[in-house]
Amino acid sequence: MKKRPNVFLIVMDCVRFDYLSAYGYPRPTTPHLERLANEGILFENAFAAAPWTPPSHASLFTGTYPSRHGVDVNENLFLSQQNRPLAEILSDHGYRTFGVLPDVHLSNVRGFHKGFQEYKELWRIPHWYPEYDWLNCLAWNTVCGRDRRTRYTNTVMRRWLQANYSETEPFFIFVNYKAAHNAYHHIPWRFRRKFETKVPGIDMKKVTYYSDKGGYPYMARQLELTAEEFRLVQSWYAGAVAYIDSRIGEMIQYLKDLGAYENTLIVITADHGENLGEHHLAYHLFCLYDTLLHVPLLMSCPAVLPRGRRVPGLVSLTDVVPTLLEVLELEESLDTQGTSLVPFTGRPYHEHIFAEFGRPHYMLKRLPERFPGHDFSAFDKGLQCIRSKTHKLIVGSDGSEELYDLQADPGETLNRSQELPEVAAHLRSELSSWHASIGPTFVGQRVEEDESLVKALRALGYF
Ligand SMILES: [Zn+2]
Repeated sequence: MKKRPNVFLIVMDCVRFDYLSAYGYPRPTTPHLERLANEGILFENAFAAAPWTPPSHASLFTGTYPSRHGVDVNENLFLSQQNRPLAEILSDHGYRTFGVLPDVHLSNVRGFHKGFQEYKELWRIPHWYPEYDWLNCLAWNTVCGRDRRTRYTNTVMRRWLQANYSETEPFFIFVNYKAAHNAYHHIPWRFRRKFETKVPGIDMKKVTYYSDKGGYPYMARQLELTAEEFRLVQSWYAGAVAYIDSRIGEMIQYLKDLGAYENTLIVITADHGENLGEHHLAYHLFCLYDTLLHVPLLMSCPAVLPRGRRVPGLVSLTDVVPTLLEVLELEESLDTQGTSLVPFTGRPYHEHIFAEFGRPHYMLKRLPERFPGHDFSAFDKGLQCIRSKTHKLIVGSDGSEELYDLQADPGETLNRSQELPEVAAHLRSELSSWHASIGPTFVGQRVEEDESLVKALRALGYF
């Protein structure tokens, strides 16, 4: 029997679509992804189903929205066993499955390892551990700059491929690259120098503080940045995107050297974007604006997919699993909420797509302690949104509504809910029918998160 294509699923954590030159960013941040788009398919309007890491990955892995898979619903951050994620499906169909992640959010104690025969959580490996190759990494970081173990992530994948690549059995690799997460200025010097736009007289101490952990003081209006200072932050972020692109390019070259490139289905996306001075918000919580939801999505597999296509239709990351099942010809009666994107034409795909954000209880407990005197009650709500090509309605669990005319106001700055009550009513009714159609939510079993995980989450800026 002919070997099925390998699958290489790459998530660039926190990467907004509009910072990729493959999507029109004016500086050459993503030459490797541009080349990949020429050899495959680029989805111009792809959207995450949630604005932060655990629920968005759960949607990507299961093809369902949070109200079904249960992650980030009612304070649950665990991927319930009732879900059937992609890794499990592929493993059951004879794939060798491997996950590698520097991040704590998708830890095995939260159930995200389901279906992976090997699941490498790099954040658990102490720096001094021989496997970490610490002397080599320390030397590289000292000379070249910090990179959140991105270079090491590639080393780990190459080692796994050297030991597991087979001419007869396909592989599935999932990787999450973290280099674009705050702190944005911690990127290799070469990329920082190339993209940094620094003007004389700028308060570097303040801007690096913002980049490091100043996002919450900024949201609490205890720290302000000028437009020029934000441009500097944005330029570091662009450098981080370029650095990830270079590491993806390295892996693509490795697959070519291995003779595996032609028959590997490469899927590249992001779990969410980042607020970089918009809406007086920082990082990637508390909202469902396109700064967080509009993500890149590219697919390539020269052996089976068309080349050089740009798909303009509205698509969701919940579509990735159904698409892979069809392309790989896997028999599965999976109940997903996405749709297959085959045959990758100009059709609209979805009239509406959705996204959800649970009430951020973990942040609300700690933010008032850290920033006394500031009122965070505006963030105390869950959110759901429905989006068409032209409008977006965001509904809060407190009854609030925001309606945006995306053609006249792509930055989502003017709430038109009072002026366009008929549009709001139509979208509200579609949103409520969609939600009613989802059925019961899978409930994750509560597992105690160990102390090292909580510590690592705090280091990332979550409380
Ligand atoms: Zn993330």
